[in-house]
Amino acid sequence: MKGSLIKEEQTQEEQTQEEQTQEEQTQEEQTQEEQTQEEQRSNIETRMLLCLDFDLTLTQTHMFHYVVEAINGGFSREDAVLRAIKIIRRQGPKGGKLLWSSIASWLDAGHGVAVTSYTSFPELPQALLSLGVSALRQELQDRRLTRWLSRPLVIFGDPAPAFNPPVKLPHTVLIPRVELISGDHGKNLHIQMALDELKRRGFHYQRAVLMDDDPTNIALAAAAGHLVIPVEREAKDDDHLDRLRALL
Ligand SMILES: [Mg+2]
Repeated sequence: MKGSLIKEEQTQEEQTQEEQTQEEQTQEEQTQEEQTQEEQRSNIETRMLLCLDFDLTLTQTHMFHYVVEAINGGFSREDAVLRAIKIIRRQGPKGGKLLWSSIASWLDAGHGVAVTSYTSFPELPQALLSLGVSALRQELQDRRLTRWLSRPLVIFGDPAPAFNPPVKLPHTVLIPRVELISGDHGKNLHIQMALDELKRRGFHYQRAVLMDDDPTNIALAAAAGHLVIPVEREAKDDDHLDRLRALL
């Protein structure tokens, strides 16, 4: 009896040791896998920064117009933005799940993402991209990649400074109006500022890709040597996401 108890204890101990070894091996494998992924990323020849317009590129309705109308109708800036965020959450992004899976593949390949918009309300792209964090939790192996969506870089320039946020939000860069009206820049100033800001943070990109529903912004970006992906304004159209995947 005593002997069998000792035997059982020994067996349990062996099992526990075996489990621990397995667990250590799994952890080691995971770390190696992460390192390999990291190496693959640093080995890719051309790192690209995807510069996303916001209104009608990521959204199904024009949220800047919505918020301005709400403010003109008597809502405070804060209330108008909160109402817009509710709409964004209800509608989801243009392209739906396909947007999130396309962004996941893009980030997984080692490329970066920034929002380049003329909006005066950077809270809105932040709210929209944060929807992707829960949508991608399963899909993105590397949890660090969620930082691109939960704390996205938003470069915004404001044609209507009356609506500028009084306090600068983290991870946002406001292009001064005087610079924006100094020439026909389209999104080119936004793109350059996004590249510069990320370089300061240690992320270097050789090419920028502008995804935008405004044909003028697309034409000016192409003329400046950037890659471009035009977006149809119809909410249901998501051909642009196929074009994005084709760059991978
Ligand atoms: Mg737009």
